[in-house]
Amino acid sequence: MTNQVAVVGGGPGGYAAAFLAADLDLTTVLIDPEVNPGGVCVYRGCIPSKALLHVAKVLDEARHAAAWGVEFGEPRINLQKLRDFKNNVVKRLTSGTGQLVKHRKVHYIQGIAEIADPHTLRVKRAGGGEETLRFDHAILATGSTPAAPPALAINDPRVMDSTAALDLPDIPKSLLVVGGGYIGLELGSVYATLGSAVTVVEMTSGLLPGADRDLVDILAKRIGTTMTAVRLNTRVVQMKAQADGIAVTLEGGEGGKDSTREAFDRVLVAVGRCPNSGIEGLDGTRVKRDPRGFIVVDNQMRTDEPSIFAIGDVVGEPMLAHKASHEGRVAVEVIAGENVAFEARAIPAVVFTDPEIAWCGLTEAQARQEGRKVVIAKFPWGASGRAITLDRTDGLTKLLLDADTERILGVGLVGAGAGELIAEGVLAVEMGANATDLKLSIHPHPTLTETMMESAEVFFGQATHVYRPRR
Ligand code: NAD
Repeated sequence: MTNQVAVVGGGPGGYAAAFLAADLDLTTVLIDPEVNPGGVCVYRGCIPSKALLHVAKVLDEARHAAAWGVEFGEPRINLQKLRDFKNNVVKRLTSGTGQLVKHRKVHYIQGIAEIADPHTLRVKRAGGGEETLRFDHAILATGSTPAAPPALAINDPRVMDSTAALDLPDIPKSLLVVGGGYIGLELGSVYATLGSAVTVVEMTSGLLPGADRDLVDILAKRIGTTMTAVRLNTRVVQMKAQADGIAVTLEGGEGGKDSTREAFDRVLVAVGRCPNSGIEGLDGTRVKRDPRGFIVVDNQMRTDEPSIFAIGDVVGEPMLAHKASHEGRVAVEVIAGENVAFEARAIPAVVFTDPEIAWCGLTEAQARQEGRKVVIAKFPWGASGRAITLDRTDGLTKLLLDADTERILGVGLVGAGAGELIAEGVLAVEMGANATDLKLSIHPHPTLTETMMESAEVFFGQATHVYRPRR
């Protein structure tokens, strides 16, 4: 029997694609090495890290509660229970995806797929044995793996990638985080809250290089109090395993010439991810890869081989689960004969630090680079009643608007819960809303969502809670 759709890779991109294909009555096979679909996101990424970040937030709040008149003793951390909580979260979600596979009658094979020819897959089953599958269309959704540059790739369990760090082997006294990006800051914060002295080393001049500086500045201020040190413009040039820790040679700093050697109990390497495009047999097809290894696709997720589509991390940045799922659904609709394309105006990005950072659409740096005429409206959370009740005024809502049309082109947020708030920004940018739309939509009081409405009022110089003297 020929499968109408074969999906290779069961992450949020792959399983969203397979489930939609089944919903559209296409015979579908999904292949992944794990027992149930979930991919890196559910097994070793977004989900377990968020479970740990949730606990870290509770710990932080408990420690801060004395300022609100509630005193707890110093929290005692039971690492095994913490791991169990995180593992159970993963188990619950992956058994859910397993159920959804059965309900939808998706043929799920636990194994690794190779491409035999443009209409045939060879699957090495996890339990042993091989099978050959015919397909009309395949969707490659093989994801990415942590990058390991040679200077950082030493074979010692104390040097961890994100997967190893999520296992919480212990709470090291000292932890070096190499890379001040998403993973470094999220997992670095978890370890810092659990009690590790965390040093972050970032090779560029600022944390989260792709994010807006106004947002990062507020996060950086907080990180300055929770982490032991943040070293910018700094690289790790050598790492050596010693009995008393990992000896690390750092080079860079302000003048670019400082060189220091320090030992850390553990090191977390989080310097980006590489696409898993080395799929066996792919070279025998017309599928192309770019110089960074990403599979080249058009906006309908088609590769140069007419029967093969690709989606998610393996086709390029941003490497985000929600982008992958959306691309997966587009690929399936195209296969089903619909005239659709992936044309998102706003792909939200969220960094789940404390405070969270979230943005979508155009950023100020991009607007400047493209020479676009934009107006910026900012609402500081110090003027938000809700932020004050939460004792979390360390936040900012920022709108980027087209100077001529008042249209909202981008939204940036930093603050507690920014990751939830950004959804309104995505809707505004996608729907082509303008400042008046946002200003005239009544937002509930007292909530942080009002900062969206009031930042639109700032644009008109009429924000209720921000006084601007007349010139
Ligand atoms: P990243 O690209 O976010 O950050 C890597 C950082 O490491 C960058 O700031 C880079 O300048 C720095 N760097 C690179 N080489 C270095 C070196 N030798 N020394 C010091 N610094 C160096 O990558 P990541 O944190 O590994 O995460 C990978 C991807 O996974 C992210 O880009 C994102 O797409 C995804 N992710 C998303 C989330 C989320 O959505 N919340 C969370 C985790 C990961």
